[in-house]
Amino acid sequence: MAKDKKKSARIRLVVQILFFLVVTLIVTAHNLVEIGVEIPLIGSASIHSICPFGGVVSIYEFFVSGSFVKKIHESSFILMAIVFLLSLLAGPVFCGWVCPFGSFQEWIAKLGKKIFKKRFNHFIPYKIDKYLRFLRYVVLVWVIYMTATSGQLLFQNIDPFYTLFNFYTSEMAISGYIVFGVIVVLGFFVERPFCKYACPYGALLGIFNLFRLFGIKRNAATCIDCKACDKICPMNIPISDKSTIRNHQCITCMKCSSEQSCPVPDTLNLEAGKAKKEAKDDAA
Ligand code: SF4
Ligand code: SF4
Repeated sequence: MAKDKKKSARIRLVVQILFFLVVTLIVTAHNLVEIGVEIPLIGSASIHSICPFGGVVSIYEFFVSGSFVKKIHESSFILMAIVFLLSLLAGPVFCGWVCPFGSFQEWIAKLGKKIFKKRFNHFIPYKIDKYLRFLRYVVLVWVIYMTATSGQLLFQNIDPFYTLFNFYTSEMAISGYIVFGVIVVLGFFVERPFCKYACPYGALLGIFNLFRLFGIKRNAATCIDCKACDKICPMNIPISDKSTIRNHQCITCMKCSSEQSCPVPDTLNLEAGKAKKEAKDDAA
């Protein structure tokens, strides 16, 4: 069992590293082309052409004028559709498995856990934290509104994802460095602070948790109430008293599952349909 647990966590880590390297390679190749150096076979696609959120912020522009927001390409629309489909099936898989900035924060968290041990990720009182989690929806509305009215990718100037891969280019704004620095420092105390409180794309994909086809289901009949699932969840979601996790912050990382942390086999799994024994569903 322990070997299997390590195996499923390793698969996710490999996927995360793979996407991180692919994005690094594509962005580096693009930035080199800008200064006249071409890497054979890689091409010159920009970070915007491989960002599915670019499709989201361009929807208004596309329907009004039939064109895209400056720097956004058709590929963003295709990636947006793929990510939406995946989210409809299993929630924000993009956040938990693909997004390089989510992975980057997870790797910082490993250091935070070493420093603060059990206190890590538990510094903010739940009563305050649960309201702070809705801040990302304010950011989402603001980004869509500002992009629609200006036709420019204004979020780029404060986007830590953009900063991570372009920190050495002349396109960087000072605000980008400041936000990036704040997120890195927070990341030593809180797991995935950007995902939890500020990411507009995470906010949008989080809505799919309310009606995804395959959910995280807890079998109340076999659960021994050890609360291992609650303790391991990087997004601090209360799991042990729910039958189906519908929390808007779930990132489908599967850390809580019987394959990884729940000590009882076949008790916490990704499944379609209703939970084996209904308890209180979580829509909070
Ligand atoms: S640990 Fe479970 S509930 Fe928490 S984010 Fe990961 S999959 Fe969702
Ligand atoms: S880890 Fe498994 S057994 Fe323990 S409380 Fe969670 S679902 Fe129940």
